Amino acid sequence: MSRKPRLILSRQALVANYQRLSSFSGQAECAASIKANAYGVGVDFVAPVLWEAGCRTFFVAYLEEALALRSFVPDADIYVFHGFGPDAFDIALASKIRPVLNTLDELFIPGVEALRPAIHVDTGMRRLGIPQYQHDRLLDAVSLCQPSLLMSHLASADEPERPDSEQQRNVFESVRASLGALCPPSSLANTAGILLGDAYHYDLVRPGIGLYGGSPDPSDSKGFEAVVTWQAQVIELQHVRKGETVGYGGSYVAPRDIRLATIGLGYADGYLRALSDKGEVLIEGQRCPIVGRVSMDLITVDVSSLRSVKEGKWVEIMGSGISVDTIAEKANTIGYECLTRLGARMERVFV
Ligand SMILES: *Cc1c(COP(=O)(O)O)cnc(C)c1O
Repeated sequence: MSRKPRLILSRQALVANYQRLSSFSGQAECAASIKANAYGVGVDFVAPVLWEAGCRTFFVAYLEEALALRSFVPDADIYVFHGFGPDAFDIALASKIRPVLNTLDELFIPGVEALRPAIHVDTGMRRLGIPQYQHDRLLDAVSLCQPSLLMSHLASADEPERPDSEQQRNVFESVRASLGALCPPSSLANTAGILLGDAYHYDLVRPGIGLYGGSPDPSDSKGFEAVVTWQAQVIELQHVRKGETVGYGGSYVAPRDIRLATIGLGYADGYLRALSDKGEVLIEGQRCPIVGRVSMDLITVDVSSLRSVKEGKWVEIMGSGISVDTIAEKANTIGYECLTRLGARMERVFV
């Protein structure tokens, strides 16, 4: 009988990554970005572990995520990156959920100051936040809504050789200066921003990907540990003769006789179909290539080099042997996408 693929989630690795990011950040408070179910890792696992490690401030994208998070961290500060409308103010107040205000109009909504909001100023990403051509109106607005945090977001922090981050920091500095004594505690850095150094840390940093073991720069893991070990089981073994094809569309033609393992894992579990004929899995310390297409519930792997593999064997899909960034590169995407795609059907084991 075969079992569902599983995620083994390491408390020790998560704490180590938090402590590492915290120590990189000097005096700044180290918060955590745990939107999208903690990047797919699971907010029920991540939030309590981070709270115990000393994290006191959390960021999510939506009010619904914040309300769900509240039960795991009753005393934390929780900010909602996308904000929410006045119709939600009562429920937010009751659960002490703070909006991030991204437009100037939101700063003037009556009663918003009671929510202890953050304000997001755009400094060059041009995606979210009060645009630069309105920064001359910030002082009035800030004296009205008394924000608890001033934040902005870096567009290219993962490319330190580019001048963009410094330009954004200069804009951020001028906003801070224009607010003078009214300037609230400030926050600019995500994971990659933390690694840019002291000047980017301000009062609070808000890493995400580094906590989960991904690196903003895939060529350098920066010592973050794999929080997620993803495993799946060998369901069947076959001998495939030279010239025979494997899987949908027969995309793989065996160049010689091979031993083929079929593994219970597919794109329904979040294993990207782009890894067809490209991905690798780790079996007994050896990397074995995926041959043929990734299907909904199955992948097929060439295990010719391993004589001893049997049905029921658990293999590593992702973990300390095959990093999330290695997989991402092969799939022509980023670690963030690989993590947030992790499927809901899998068994999840906390260790
Ligand atoms: C997701 C997010 C972060 C965290 O970014 P990482 O690159 O995962 O560290 C920080 N700030 C904002 C505004 C975000 O949306």
